[in-house]
Amino acid sequence: MIYDTIAAIATPFGTSGLSIIRISGDEAIEKAAAIFKGKNLIKAKSHTVTYGHIIDHHKKVIDEVLVTVFKAPKTFTKEDVVEISCHGGILVTQKVLERILEQGIRLAEPGEFTKRAFINGRIDLAQSEAIMDLIHAKNVNAMKLAVSGLKGDLSKLINELREELLFLIAQIEVNIDYPEYDDATQMSVELIKPHVLNLIKKLNTLLDDANKGKLIRDGVKTAIVGKPNVGKSSLLNALLNEERAIVTDIEGTTRDTIEAQINIGGITLILMDTAGIRETKDIVEQIGVKRSKKAIDEAELIILVLDQSRQLSKEDLELLEQTKNKRRIVVGNKNDLTKAIDLDIHMLSLSALNRQGLSDLEHEITTTLGITDLEEKDFNYLSNVRHINKIKEAISSMNEVVNAIDLGLPIDMAEIDLKKAWQYLGEITGDYHPEDLLNELFSKFCLGK
Ligand code: GDP
Repeated sequence: MIYDTIAAIATPFGTSGLSIIRISGDEAIEKAAAIFKGKNLIKAKSHTVTYGHIIDHHKKVIDEVLVTVFKAPKTFTKEDVVEISCHGGILVTQKVLERILEQGIRLAEPGEFTKRAFINGRIDLAQSEAIMDLIHAKNVNAMKLAVSGLKGDLSKLINELREELLFLIAQIEVNIDYPEYDDATQMSVELIKPHVLNLIKKLNTLLDDANKGKLIRDGVKTAIVGKPNVGKSSLLNALLNEERAIVTDIEGTTRDTIEAQINIGGITLILMDTAGIRETKDIVEQIGVKRSKKAIDEAELIILVLDQSRQLSKEDLELLEQTKNKRRIVVGNKNDLTKAIDLDIHMLSLSALNRQGLSDLEHEITTTLGITDLEEKDFNYLSNVRHINKIKEAISSMNEVVNAIDLGLPIDMAEIDLKKAWQYLGEITGDYHPEDLLNELFSKFCLGK
């Protein structure tokens, strides 16, 4: 298929040392050569860098640049690609880009380079999504997860499962096409069921670990809750190692929810600092209280802070009760003071003020999330919600197959659902791709990717 030639600034827009403008398409080299003063780019060898200048239509120099020429098909998009490294000023970069667009080259849409890489068959859909994950990776583990996806580890697994499904579908087809082999039909129903059950088992194993993958990729929404003055802001600050939230002695100063991110043991916690939860008549504070309750509902992890130098109050008990069915860690802060509470549940004792016991808290966080000692093999987790949903749909179709077999329904009923399962799995790698899905996916990319 022939596409028009596209261009975009591939680096973040702003003042920087360098900016890279990427051009992809049949006319990329020829059009770049037309605005370039230096050695002839058309004659440049693939994957080589040429020094020169971008010039305007009066042949005046716009910028001094390095141009890398990549000839199809061994390029990111499988098309001819030119990358122009120019100086990073907003104005200069913009001027160079404008000069390129003047040549009749179109400005790329967000994600369009990656979309071409997909459409031209260099990477599959799951790999394209991994590129986006890589760009947005919040921590080292999320990065490893994305690299594994980009390498195609997940795609390979999915393709193997699809192969198995295809084998079953083919067997059924044979039996439908040659109904005279009655015995064979009987045989294959009996044979197909254990195969399908086995496939369901494999998919369920993938799903079991998906939650871990999701936590690694997306981070963990964490609410630090506790009544006013127990030391929530102090704890947040200690964790962040910087004074970002306001810490005072006046009750209820943390009126607004403040979001901050922190990497602990390779996991990103998205911390939602909250106002103290208590009955109050103060309007501003009430908003904060409402948000705190909302935060408890929304959080995937709750750090409930108690002041262990004071006896438990009604509010503490309420919070303990409210959070008891959530994934939570109960922290007994202010352990530098005399202890006044005795709990029959596990309480992690620390001092936010003295920054003591923080590493214990970090350890407890990763254990509570079930994410300790991650091994390399773990980086093949499902982590993308779209993939997880497709796997769920595939499982439910395969359950239908088992039902149909158990009910003694005609074998072609089972075949319909097997094909559905095959299709759902294909949607993960993009082997079966409705156009709108593609548009939605790639539009989430940044410009120039
Ligand atoms: P919040 O209202 O729960 O956010 O509590 P703050 O973080 O504002 O802390 C309330 C007060 O407790 C402040 O005066 C802090 O300095 C103090 N505080 C916090 N952590 C500790 C601690 O570990 N030990 C002691 N002694 N005081 C603390």
